[in-house]
Amino acid sequence: MAEYAGIIINNDSVQVDKPFTYKIKEEFKSNISLGHRVKVPFGKGNRQVEGFVIELYDSLNKSNDFRMKSISSLIDNEPILTDNDLKLILFMRKRYLCKYIDAIRVMIPPGIMRGGREKTKSSVFFVLKDKGLLRENYSKALDIIEKNSGLYTKTELNKFYNISMYTINKLQEKGFVEIKDVQVQRVDNRVFENYEKRILNEEQTLALNKIVNSQYRVFLLKGVTGSGKTEIYMNLVEKTIKNNKSALILVPEIALTPQMIERFKGRFGPDVAVFHSRLSDGERFDEWFRVKEGRVKLVIGARSAIFLPFKDLGLIVIDEEHEATYKSEMSPRYNTKEIAEYKSILNSCKVILGSATPSVESYYRALNEEIELVEIKKRANAKAMPDMHIVDMREELRVQNKSMFSRLLYSKIDDRLKKGEQIILFLNRRGFSSFVSCRKCGFVFKCKHCDVAMTYHNNGFLTCHYCGVSEKIRKTCPSCGSIYVKHFGTGTEKVENEIKRLFSNARVLRMDVDTTRSKNSFEKIYNDFKNKQADILIGTQMISKGLDFENVSLVGVIAADMSINMPDYKASERSFQLITQVSGRAGRGEIGGDVIIQTYNPENYTLNYIKNNDYEGFLREELPLRKAMNYPPFSKLLLIGISSKFENELIDFAKKLGSELSSLLEDYGNLEILGPCPCAIQKIKEMYRWQILIKGEVNEIIANIIKERVYDFSKDVYNNIRIILDVNPNSLI
Ligand code: ADP
Ligand code: ZN
Ligand code: ZN
Repeated sequence: MAEYAGIIINNDSVQVDKPFTYKIKEEFKSNISLGHRVKVPFGKGNRQVEGFVIELYDSLNKSNDFRMKSISSLIDNEPILTDNDLKLILFMRKRYLCKYIDAIRVMIPPGIMRGGREKTKSSVFFVLKDKGLLRENYSKALDIIEKNSGLYTKTELNKFYNISMYTINKLQEKGFVEIKDVQVQRVDNRVFENYEKRILNEEQTLALNKIVNSQYRVFLLKGVTGSGKTEIYMNLVEKTIKNNKSALILVPEIALTPQMIERFKGRFGPDVAVFHSRLSDGERFDEWFRVKEGRVKLVIGARSAIFLPFKDLGLIVIDEEHEATYKSEMSPRYNTKEIAEYKSILNSCKVILGSATPSVESYYRALNEEIELVEIKKRANAKAMPDMHIVDMREELRVQNKSMFSRLLYSKIDDRLKKGEQIILFLNRRGFSSFVSCRKCGFVFKCKHCDVAMTYHNNGFLTCHYCGVSEKIRKTCPSCGSIYVKHFGTGTEKVENEIKRLFSNARVLRMDVDTTRSKNSFEKIYNDFKNKQADILIGTQMISKGLDFENVSLVGVIAADMSINMPDYKASERSFQLITQVSGRAGRGEIGGDVIIQTYNPENYTLNYIKNNDYEGFLREELPLRKAMNYPPFSKLLLIGISSKFENELIDFAKKLGSELSSLLEDYGNLEILGPCPCAIQKIKEMYRWQILIKGEVNEIIANIIKERVYDFSKDVYNNIRIILDVNPNSLI
C-alpha cells in the first residue's frame, strides 16, 4: 500500500509547478488512488488547499519523512482524474510547456473545481391510493399529476396546468401526492425536426468503407463543400454507438454551427450532449457527469469537449479541421488535433479530420502517409460548383469606378435582388493590422527576410513584426511609380452603408463581432436569413462556416487582398480556406451560383487556384515556399510573447532575454532566433507587447530547455512582466 503521494497544488504560480510529497494517513490508505482530489496543508501557514494526486509511492529514497505533512482529507469518493487523464497531463505539459495545473483545469469543468453540486427541484409525485370519494376537481387534478408524476414542481403544475396551489396542498395533506427532490438536468432538451438518413452515393460509400476497413488510425477526409461529409460522420457515429462506444464530434465553434446540432439531434434524438465554453457552470457540470456516467453516447462540442471523461471513446471527428479555433490561445495552448490523436492511441479509436480545404500541415502528413487520405470529389446531390469570377479592381480604377463594388458585382447584386434570390457579401477582417499596397498595379510592401506583408503604423512606418525590420512608407509605388499607394482597410459597416445607398430596397443583415455579441444573436441572424427575412447577408469569417442556405446564388468577396496580405506566413493558406468556404455557400440549392472575388492582385497564385478549385495545385506552389522560408510543416515555431504595462522595462528585458537565448542556443545549429521585436499589434489593453520567435527543429527537449531558461531568467521581473510560451502558434499577431 502506498505511503506517500505526489500532489499538484491548485495554484497558479510557476514556483509550485511540481509534485509536493505528502504522507498518507492510515485511514486513507485503502481508499486513495491516482487522480484523487484531496485537501492538504500548504505553505508556511498550513492553509488548507486543494490538490491532485498524480504519484503514489511505497517508500522514499531520500532521508526520512519526520517533518513531512500529511493529506488532510479526500474531497471525492472516487478519483476525479483517470489514468489516461494523468498520461495526458504529462503529455501536455511537455508538449505545450504549460503547468500541471493548467492541464488539470481543462479536464475538470470550473463548476466542479469550485465545488459545484447537482441542482435539484421539489417535484410532485403521484401516490397510488384508493381515490374513494375524492371530489371531482381533485380527481381531475390528480389525473394530470399521475401522468406527469415527478416532472414538475407545484408552481410549474400551476403554471402549465392551472392546478391551484390549494388543490395540490390538499392532495398532499390527504396523501395522494408527495413531494420529493429530484435532480434537474440543466441540458438543452429542444426537439429537432427529423433529419432523415440518406442513401450514400458511390463516392461516399467508398470513403466510408475505406475508413472502416483501414489499418490507419487517423484519416484526412477531404471532400468538396457539399460533398456530404456529415452523412459519413453520421454513419460512423451509428456504428460506434452500435458497438456500445461513445462518439465525439468537434466543430470549430458551436455558436457558429447550429446546423450540425440540428442535424445530429434530428438524426440521433435529443440524447446528444452539447458541450462548449459558453455553457453556464451548472450546465457544464451536468453534461460532464452525463458523459462520465455513460448516460450519453454522442457529444457535439467545441475544442474543450476533447477533455470530457468518456468511458469508452470509439470515434473522434474533427470537422473543418483547418480552422484556427482548434488551437487554444489560452494556457494550456494545446492543439486539439494532437490531443485527439493522443487520446486515440490511449483508446484505440479512429480520428477523422474533415475539411474541403485541409490545413497544409494535415495534408502534408497525408502526402507522407502518416495519416490516410480519403477523398470525395463531387457534391452529394450532383449540384454544380458555383461559377467563379476574379475581378481586377485596378481595371475599375482605370474606368473611374471608385466604389467598393466592381461593375460585375453591382450588376449581379441587382440581378439577384430582382429575382428574389439571396446574396452573401464577405469581408475578411481580423485584428487591427493593415498593409500598404499600390491600387494601380497591386504591389504590396513585404519583408524581404520573412515574406510576410509589412504592417502599417500611424507614425508613417512599415514594420515586419516577424523580424522587426522597419522602413518609412514611400509615397510612390516602387514597382510602377504611381501615387496610389495606400493602406488598406474597410469594415462591414461601411459595406452595409454602401449597399443601403445603392440598393435602398434591399433588406440587409450584418453578421460580425459587433452584431453577435449577445447570446443567441448569431442564431437569430442565421434564422432570419434562412427564413428569407433578408436579401443580403454581410459578414466576416463567421459566415464562412457550415451554413447551408438554399436560396443563395451570389457570393461576393469584397476585398480578397485583405486576407492574402495578412502579416502571417499562413496568409495564403488561410485565404484559400476562407474564400473557398464562403464560395461554398453559393448554389447549394436548386439554383446555380456565382462567386465574385474582387482583388488588386488578380495574378496571385492563391486566387487562381481558388478559382479553379484546385487545392492540390495550390499546395504544389505553397509547400516549396514554406520549405524555402523554413516555416511549418518543415519546421516548428516557438513564440515567446512578452508583455508589460511598462514599455521601457519591457524593451530592456526583451533584449536581455534575446541575448540570453542566443547564447543558450548557439550550440543548436538549426535554430533561428527572430527578434526581439514589437508584435504586430503593439499594445492591447494597456499592455505593450514584444515577441521572440524561435524557428527550426524546436523539439520537445529543446523547447523545455528554453522554457526552464526563460522562467529562470525572468524570476526577478515576474511582477511587472508577463510571459507566454506558444508552440506552433496560430497566428503571430
Ligand atoms: P459537406 O459537409 O461535405 O459540405 P453536407 O454534409 O452538408 O456536405 O451535405 C450537403 C448536402 O447534401 C446536404 O443538404 C445533405 O443533406 C445532402 N446529402 C448528403 N449526402 C447525400 C446523399 N447521399 N444523398 C442525397 N443528399 C445528400
Ligand atoms: Zn504600383
Ligand atoms: Zn521580416
